[in-house]
Amino acid sequence: MSRLLASMVAVRLDGHDPAVCAAWIDSADRVCGRPVVAPWLCKRHETVARKRAEKAGIKAREDAEKHSTRQEELRPGREARLAVVQAEIDRLDPPRQMHEWRHMTDRQAAHLSQLYRERDDLRRDLGVTA
Ligand SMILES: [Zn+2]
Repeated sequence: MSRLLASMVAVRLDGHDPAVCAAWIDSADRVCGRPVVAPWLCKRHETVARKRAEKAGIKAREDAEKHSTRQEELRPGREARLAVVQAEIDRLDPPRQMHEWRHMTDRQAAHLSQLYRERDDLRRDLGVTA
């Protein structure tokens, strides 16, 4: 964790003396260099790093939650759409024997291949492995 924490404020840790603060100070264009209280970090920068890490962690969790909520909201619509798409595919492209040949216009063929693509996308979004 200390390394991860330090990376919140430091640009470079490798090759840096762990006894002095490695935090990068943008305004001064140099590393902090004060004595450390934690590996690579002085008292002040340890606090800064901790706050940044906390923020980043919270943000990541919020994003993950938002994403999964959204996915659940979309699920019924996607499932309904998948049923429609599948029904349309079955109608346009019913299972048939290899030797059977059915005339299909370019438009129908394009429509059908678009339906297949949409079905595959929906299945992927819904986590269906067919
Ligand atoms: Zn510092």
